[in-house]
Amino acid sequence: QTSNSNQSTNHWEQTRRHPCYSMEAHYKYARMHLPVAPKCNIACNYCNRKYDCVNESRPGVTSEVLTPVSAEQKFIVVKEKIPNLSVVGIAGPGDALANWENTCEAIERIKQSNPEMIFCLSTNGLLLPHYAPEIVELGIKHVTVTMNTLNPDTGAKIYRHVHYQGKKYEGTVGAGILLENQLTGIQYLAHQGVLVKVNIVMIKDINDSEIPAVVKKAKQLGAFMTNIMPLIPAEGSVFANLPPTSIKELNQMRDRCQIDLHQMRHCKQCRADAVGMLSEDRSQEFYAGVDSLIK
Ligand code: SF4
Ligand code: SF4
Repeated sequence: QTSNSNQSTNHWEQTRRHPCYSMEAHYKYARMHLPVAPKCNIACNYCNRKYDCVNESRPGVTSEVLTPVSAEQKFIVVKEKIPNLSVVGIAGPGDALANWENTCEAIERIKQSNPEMIFCLSTNGLLLPHYAPEIVELGIKHVTVTMNTLNPDTGAKIYRHVHYQGKKYEGTVGAGILLENQLTGIQYLAHQGVLVKVNIVMIKDINDSEIPAVVKKAKQLGAFMTNIMPLIPAEGSVFANLPPTSIKELNQMRDRCQIDLHQMRHCKQCRADAVGMLSEDRSQEFYAGVDSLIK
């Protein structure tokens, strides 16, 4: 009982300092993303892999990709210059779990000397059933999963393929595997007390009419909130010529879904190497340099 209540006090304390999970915190605290996860195991039609993962990023400039050791060095520099840094997240440029060794090593290294830091990660969810116990073990209390649809037929329009356990799956089969793993993983994490944020990319005439059902499902699985994001048609991606989602449509959808679950409204779709407060981008200031890149 006592350890449970200590756990939830600790959770609350952490969430109060997480700029993405708390509207108030985003005025006070900074976050940094460590770009240690270059590979991805699925192919989203809104992705242009020259840029950062759309799970948590804005297409625009190619990120540097760091080894866990250079990520830790960069963290030390950033923490020195940005004392209100409270969150270290892994959000690509590929998938945090498709690069689990890097993700895990970077977090462990920093955590050793900075136990007060909040660690979070974002994923497409494909490998959640595999790594969720380790995520919990590592003490990560905030996980973002991008889940765009509950229908494998719609999924087949969004995902070209899924690489899973050594095989490549296309169409509804691939989308079905991804969906099953997202559902299992979200539920597992939520039951372990992890605050799960479900990201949904709103794509006109593809998944927009299904979003309320995705939000309801997220709630049923125990997710903490959903973050409905606009499609940014990335140059070079399959969806490059689709219409972007307008802010008006986005807000109408958020208002509709707010009845079921808390909606994040201040997401900035940050880069995989974002640094600073959510309202600013200081990533250019902190480039670690080519020597630190994963070759
Ligand atoms: Fe791109 Fe992210 Fe989708 Fe992977 S999960 S294909 S990196 S948008
Ligand atoms: Fe927070 Fe959104 Fe930026 Fe992720 S992409 S760090 S959720 S504001």
